[in-house]
Amino acid sequence: MPELAEVDYYRKQWNAGLDEVVSRVFVHPAARIFRDTPAAAMERGLPDRRFLKSRAHGKQMMFEFSGGAWLGLHLGMSGELTTAPADHVPTKHEHLVIVLESLALVFSDYRMFGKVTLEITDDEEAPLWWRNLPPQVLERSFTKSRVGEFVKRFPKTPLKTLLLDQRGFPGIGNWMADEICWQLKVAPQTPAGSLNDAFLDAIWKMTRFVSREAMEVIGTDWSDLPDSWLMNHRWRDGGICPRRGCKSELLRGDLRGRTTCWCPKCQE
Ligand SMILES: [Zn+2]
Repeated sequence: MPELAEVDYYRKQWNAGLDEVVSRVFVHPAARIFRDTPAAAMERGLPDRRFLKSRAHGKQMMFEFSGGAWLGLHLGMSGELTTAPADHVPTKHEHLVIVLESLALVFSDYRMFGKVTLEITDDEEAPLWWRNLPPQVLERSFTKSRVGEFVKRFPKTPLKTLLLDQRGFPGIGNWMADEICWQLKVAPQTPAGSLNDAFLDAIWKMTRFVSREAMEVIGTDWSDLPDSWLMNHRWRDGGICPRRGCKSELLRGDLRGRTTCWCPKCQE
C-alpha cells in the first residue's frame, strides 16, 4: 500500500503534464474510485482547464487545475499514477485517464480502494478538508509536544496502531510504522500509555528520520532502502533481524488487523 514516500513518487509522475490543458477525460463510470464524485462530473469538469500544480499531504494528493478546480486523489491499496502518450487507449484497470496536449495522466487501481474527488471552488484556495489536514511529519508544525499529546490521548492503544493513525501521523503506513518500532527497539504491541516522555520525544525524532530517509530514497526515484533497515527483511519467510549482532528470526503476526513484523529479541 502506498505510504508517504510512494505517494510523493506517484504525484511527481503526473508533473510531466504541468502547464498543459486538458483536452478530454476517459473514465470507467462504474469504478468504485468515483464513489464520492461521479465519473460524469470528471468528464464535464476537467476539459479546457490547465494543470497548474500538484501537492501531497501524507497519503492524500491534490491536483490543481485552472479556474479553481481541485482534483483530490487517494491511491488506496493498489492505486498507481503514470503517464502515457496522448493517444493512449485506457486498459481495464485505468479508471481515470486525463488527456493533455502532449501526454495523458493515468490513474490505475485494480482493487479500487483508491478514490478521486473533484471540487470546483472558483478561487485559489484548496477545499476546506485539504486545508484542515493535520501537520505533516516533515513540517515544522509537527512538534514534539504535538506527538506527545496525541499519543497520550490513547493510552491503551498499541504504539504501532497509533503510528498508523492519519490524524496524528499523516502518511505513515504499515511498513513505516514497523520500521519506526524496530529502529526504536520497542515492541509494536506496547500500550502507548506505558511510554515515558523521553520515549515520546524519541518517537517524534524517529518518525521524522524514517520519513526523511524514505522521501529521499523512495520519493525521489524509488530506489531501495538500506539493507540495515527492517523493511528489506520483513516480508521474507525466515527473515533475520538485520541489526548488527542480533541474528534473531523475525516474527510476523496480526496486530489490530494489520500484518506486523518485529524482532522478538531487539523489541522485547
Ligand atoms: Zn533483532
